[in-house]
Amino acid sequence: MRAVLLGPPGAGKGTQAARLSERFGVPAISTGDIFRANVKGGTPLGRRAQEYMNAGALVPDEVTNAMVRARLEEDDAAAGFLLDGYPRNPEQAVELDSMLGDLGVALDVAIELTADVDEVTARLLKRAEIEGRADDTEPVIRKRLEVYATSTAPLTAFYAGRGLLVQVDGLGDIDEVTARLVAAVAR
Ligand code: ADP
Repeated sequence: MRAVLLGPPGAGKGTQAARLSERFGVPAISTGDIFRANVKGGTPLGRRAQEYMNAGALVPDEVTNAMVRARLEEDDAAAGFLLDGYPRNPEQAVELDSMLGDLGVALDVAIELTADVDEVTARLLKRAEIEGRADDTEPVIRKRLEVYATSTAPLTAFYAGRGLLVQVDGLGDIDEVTARLVAAVAR
């Protein structure tokens, strides 16, 4: 399976990506997690990404694209992958095509996990209390949702136009959502 997982912040992409990764035996590749690990480790990449993340803005494409390209070239991604949080704008989607073309493979499916703004805002504010993520404050959440609406949401039309889009309702019990996703991917 070669898949991208789309959906607003707080839709549950990270949780579901981990489950799908196990179910399908492919690595879940989360650009947000890779950035956070680099911030934590104080690497040059982390130092570059941090200010954008804290503001709820996208890290510049040149940085993100190079990071994803390198990750997809690793051995464990050869037989498949699930990208969580990438692509996040049309330019990244075009770049992903080019990366996959260079690797001689193609996407099988683009899965959109849907959830309404009120629900995801409530989830993110709750997560802020539990995990203390630097970007889970109310103004930054608002900004991330705005970036999603402006830059990332157009990707659903992009993938729908290619016949690759499946939409899955992200509301409800975690196991139920996983079951819906598995069914959608196996369609
Ligand atoms: P969420 O989906 O909840 O906003 P992520 O962990 O996916 O959380 O992303 C956190 C932050 O990492 C983003 O706000 C952004 O700054 C950065 N980031 C993640 N993926 C990308 C990407 N594909 N392009 C640019 N920036 C990204």
